Amino acid sequence: MFDTNTISRFNTLETPFYYYDLGLLYQTLNACITAADKYGFHVHYAMKANFNPKVLAAVQSVGFGADCVSGNEVSAAIANGFDKSKIVFAGVGKSDREINTALDADIFCFNVESIQELNIINELAKAKNKVARVAIRINPNVDAHTHHFITTGLDENKFGINGWQLNEVADTLRKCANLQFVGIHFHIGSQITDLEVYKSLCVRINEMQDWFEDHGFQVKVLNTGGGLGVDYHNPDQNPVPDFEGYFKVFKDFLHIKSGQEVHFELGRALVAQSASLISRVLYVKNGQKKNFLILDAGMTELIRPMLYQAYMKIENLTREFENESQISNLKSQILKYDVVGPICESTDCFQKDVELPESFRGDLIAVRTAGAYGEVMASRYNLRDGIQSVYSD
Ligand SMILES: *Cc1c(COP(=O)(O)O)cnc(C)c1O
Repeated sequence: MFDTNTISRFNTLETPFYYYDLGLLYQTLNACITAADKYGFHVHYAMKANFNPKVLAAVQSVGFGADCVSGNEVSAAIANGFDKSKIVFAGVGKSDREINTALDADIFCFNVESIQELNIINELAKAKNKVARVAIRINPNVDAHTHHFITTGLDENKFGINGWQLNEVADTLRKCANLQFVGIHFHIGSQITDLEVYKSLCVRINEMQDWFEDHGFQVKVLNTGGGLGVDYHNPDQNPVPDFEGYFKVFKDFLHIKSGQEVHFELGRALVAQSASLISRVLYVKNGQKKNFLILDAGMTELIRPMLYQAYMKIENLTREFENESQISNLKSQILKYDVVGPICESTDCFQKDVELPESFRGDLIAVRTAGAYGEVMASRYNLRDGIQSVYSD
């Protein structure tokens, strides 16, 4: 929901742009830290969700660590003030250069996704006379009950090491003198809204930590990954995810041993609701079968709907604003539109059959809950301008 001052401000600005509500961002970050602190849990922010410098500054200031998936993210985390001892590095395809970057930075831990990678990190650490801390990313074969495009924890996914390879992992760890095993890591998918999924994950984590302890390894860190979802349908009713309920599942269902640390890697849940993509209607095309709203933003600014078939709420801010200031019987009629972008691709459609007040050229359109996997995925395809950001302060 935008107040009238904010909409008046939007009217003076060139579109499209991402609008960040920094008040809501801080409220969300603080809610998460408070809920995690209650149980002594550690949270690393999954930087890939949004590495806008203002967002990173906010996340860092509240005390989160950083979960990185590239060498450049490791470097950016350090440049943005994140504590090196709170940086973890995951990813199925870490290059030698990226591993060396992380070794030079003495990050807390590599989340390792294959046996071959263990051997390579060992070699590169040896060449630098260092010992790399590693956690084993295990693919727990737990269904995240989310869209199959963003499921990562099933046997058929490319991520992590499968259960049947654990003996070989143990042998490798024993013979690699430049690796220090610190724990086990999991990440089963994204936009997970069913907390039962996390109960199943806890059961698997407990089995896995028992396996490692039975084989003579001390498991200091249980890293449960991220994936907590947000309410894309009701951003105004549910602006802050239920962090308390989320952490409580792990408190209740994980067998946490004394001296053990429980780590989380949240991305989307921390930043998604705090931004919207603001654009204008360029053209209205009334067809025989369809009405199209053609926006000045498209898949080059926000690709989630096109890439993952993701639902994001679309609002006509200009007409809502008018409706509010009019007597109710003057409200504009509701029509159905396919809301599309200007890019030369048929997939460049935000959503089909959206019910909106009758819309006109120049109307401001908001795509809500765009703070995660939005700005960071913007591209210059069609030689577009590149995306701008505007902040509530
Ligand atoms: C992307 C990712 C996350 C964060 O996922 P969200 O759904 O944004 O919470 C956490 N851990 C790893 C390893 C990831 O790749």
